[in-house]
Amino acid sequence: MRLSKFFMPTLKETPSEAQIASHRLMLRAGMIRQSSAGIYSWLPLGHRVLKKIEQIVREEQNATGALEVLMPTIQPADLWRESGRYDDYGKEMLRIRDRHGRDMLYGPTNEEQITDIFRAAVKSYKDLPRNLYHIQWKFRDEVRPRFGIMRGREFLMKDAYSFDIDLAAGKRSYNKMFVAYLRTFERMGLRPIPLRADTGPIGGNLSHEFVILAETGESEVFCHRDLLELSIRDVEIDYDDDLEPIVERYTSYYAASDDQHDAANCPVPADELVTARGIEVGHIFHFGTKYSKPMGAVVANREGQEVAVEMGSYGIGVSRLVGAIIEACHDDDGIIWPAEVAPFKVGLINLRVGDAGCDAASASFYEKLQAGGVEVLYDDREERGGAKFASMDLIGLPWQVIIGPRGVKAGVVELKNRGTGEREELSPDAALARLAG
Ligand code: ATP
Ligand code: MG
Repeated sequence: MRLSKFFMPTLKETPSEAQIASHRLMLRAGMIRQSSAGIYSWLPLGHRVLKKIEQIVREEQNATGALEVLMPTIQPADLWRESGRYDDYGKEMLRIRDRHGRDMLYGPTNEEQITDIFRAAVKSYKDLPRNLYHIQWKFRDEVRPRFGIMRGREFLMKDAYSFDIDLAAGKRSYNKMFVAYLRTFERMGLRPIPLRADTGPIGGNLSHEFVILAETGESEVFCHRDLLELSIRDVEIDYDDDLEPIVERYTSYYAASDDQHDAANCPVPADELVTARGIEVGHIFHFGTKYSKPMGAVVANREGQEVAVEMGSYGIGVSRLVGAIIEACHDDDGIIWPAEVAPFKVGLINLRVGDAGCDAASASFYEKLQAGGVEVLYDDREERGGAKFASMDLIGLPWQVIIGPRGVKAGVVELKNRGTGEREELSPDAALARLAG
């Protein structure tokens, strides 16, 4: 992509309404634009990141055997009356009436809708287990939308729903999502911490929130420092295996939110305890027959008796992740994208547009990167070098290639790693080889 043809309305000034780094940087980098409180348009740069995150989430869900569907954003109120949540949900639900006077709503979540789809089609234990998910916009009329897309009113969520014949099978489905979440967040360059979460009146221990640490997190988190060293990256995963040992490895470490943590009775010695702030990026929850019972989602078991199916739901804040990743990965100059979610891999800077040598060398480098399938943003604008460096640092692409008159004469380009700041001069071919793949 040539920057001269792109749409990336960067801001020089720090927007006054933005209180935290990710919100400031997303506005300054021209990734989003506010439409109204907590509702945003995604501009090309932001949209590319959103889609990359969505795709990682999708691939890791598919790997577990979950099946993608797409349910509507607008739902009939009657479904929510069946579960009893229409009245309970309160002011966060955006209620709409259509021209025929029917009550509708903009979905804040989809348990009722998926239960309705399931109950119409599945009648036997033979068709279980199933996990259906979608990646769809949600609306919650938050009292205090803030921090940009981190706590929006309209936001993109992946929500998966599992259906099982009994609790033991439900636990297997839960474990698959637990492991998939670890893999998903790690692929994005994050270190997820599973925190046991409140299960409310349902009880049990099958609810975890996944948080990542960042100074601006909304909640306080306490955990054993060794939990932060765990990695799932090199663990071979077979989703048909028993995943309980992996789940246990993660849940054996102390990890608590501020409402669970009791400093006086904490089992972890002070020098091994990490106290930090966390951003919730995902939440998994086994809730048994909470919806299947009132909504009549029953199947015949092996003995031919009708039983309500065991269900769980599993959310990931896809749009929140864009901000959460920035909170975890930035410096004073701007964003530092982890490779897997970067909007482009390489930012190519032509330091002297109009100089025949620089133009030719840059164009050739650009074409070769593109031919090799490397995503590149080519700054071919007639701008000062300083301004180009600043905007490249701001948008945080993992690699920068700088081509200027001195280098062209010497037959070299400069390669800069945005994360480490390391710079190196090498021949164009050597740089291309480094950036390939
Ligand atoms: P929170 O405690 O942050 O309000 P929640 O517990 O209500 O979130 P869930 O219903 O568990 O959220 O939704 C699943 C995921 O969706 C959350 O883990 C979070 O990442 C994301 N999410 C929830 N609310 C918002 C929001 N207002 N804006 C952006 N993402 C959100
Ligand atoms: Mg939650």
